[in-house]
Amino acid sequence: MSKKVIAGNWKMNMDIPETVKLISGIKEALKNINNGAEAIVCPPFTSLETAYTLLKDSPIGLGAQNMYFEDSGAYTGEISAAMLKSVGCRYVILGHSERRTIFKESDETINKKVKKAHSSGLLPIFCIGETLEEREKGITFDVIRTQLSGGLKDVSPAELEKTIIAYEPVWAIGTGKVATPEQAQEVHAFIRGWIKENYPSVNAKEIVIQYGGSVKPDNAKELLSQPDIDGALVGGACLKADSFAGIISAC
Ligand code: PEP
Repeated sequence: MSKKVIAGNWKMNMDIPETVKLISGIKEALKNINNGAEAIVCPPFTSLETAYTLLKDSPIGLGAQNMYFEDSGAYTGEISAAMLKSVGCRYVILGHSERRTIFKESDETINKKVKKAHSSGLLPIFCIGETLEEREKGITFDVIRTQLSGGLKDVSPAELEKTIIAYEPVWAIGTGKVATPEQAQEVHAFIRGWIKENYPSVNAKEIVIQYGGSVKPDNAKELLSQPDIDGALVGGACLKADSFAGIISAC
């Protein structure tokens, strides 16, 4: 994978005026960066329409941070894949560790969402990653294997080719504790190996595997130069146009 893909997860931040300011700043900052990297922004639901309007003539992709797997009905507070499509989303983050831990989403629920995203024409950014306790117990690869096989159950090879996988060690998210490039590369290589083994018809090299966890402009270059790191999923540093652009220019 030669083209890097950088996605910004805004989380529960940015009202409408702040969205307008941030998107305008990102568009301006990216004007001068021409390294072929793809940028995606994932604002909260309430800002998607505004973001779509501002981005529609730009190469910056639009994604949501979650969705429900049912089509419609009595699911108070939920948003469907079709709703995200209708507001112009191309991507949706699924299985983020905050969804897994705070909102108790299981691999089974995430799998239903991944399949619904595909059948609706959305491209999932499917997140996996171990906690600090799991890393210290030496079970990182077991955790990753379980999350991959659970979250991608019955996902076809053609669908996998349209899935971005984001490896985000939970202990590195929002903590400032970034995984070393070697630690990240080791897990990315494991994920790529899992794809080869379980999807022999897919060219595993073509699957985008992003790293996420305290990525900043000053650590991005080293992480992104690892052979199996194809991009980044960025939280904190995507809330300022300059730092998001700084990560993209590090590609
Ligand atoms: C994230 O929430 O996906 C993330 C990686 O956050 P941060 O960059 O702030 O660690």
